Amino acid sequence: MPMGMPANLVIRSQNKFRRLTTQHTYSKGSIICVIPSEALQNKPTQYTVQIGRDRHVEVKELASMNHSCDPSVILDTSRMLVIACRDLSVGDELTFFYPSTEWEMSAPFICLCGAPSCIHVVAGARFLPLSTLEHHFVNRHIRELMIELLNNTEMILTDIERDRIFSEMAHQKPPVN
Ligand SMILES: [Zn+2]
Repeated sequence: MPMGMPANLVIRSQNKFRRLTTQHTYSKGSIICVIPSEALQNKPTQYTVQIGRDRHVEVKELASMNHSCDPSVILDTSRMLVIACRDLSVGDELTFFYPSTEWEMSAPFICLCGAPSCIHVVAGARFLPLSTLEHHFVNRHIRELMIELLNNTEMILTDIERDRIFSEMAHQKPPVN
């Protein structure tokens, strides 16, 4: 067992495909383990989880956790905990919704999870519509970045509208008295 691996978890490998599984049962809402927080980075990699605007942590063995659009756990980066979001049995795979922590991923990929709600392109929350994100638990830094993006978009749209009105006014003929 690798150093620091939570005793309740085990990595299973098959054809280079790794899955993080549990050796215990968990009821929905229970804490499975803590998210390691020692190794902070300022950029995302395939081994990090985003925990703040410019903060990413190397999560060691938890980096084996795959994405699912219908996940079995949530990563709560405010409390730095992995929490079951449904009842889990022995051998079940731990998966989480990557855009719940990641704003812009270093290595986007196509999801083949097969869930009816599959988002297909997993690249980070900034590439998803609000209508998709609102169906998922998302961490505070993602919500803040999303609101910021929406406000910026609104400002750009206001600018476009103002330019359009000005250009219309410029093309109007002067009123005839
Ligand atoms: Zn999917």
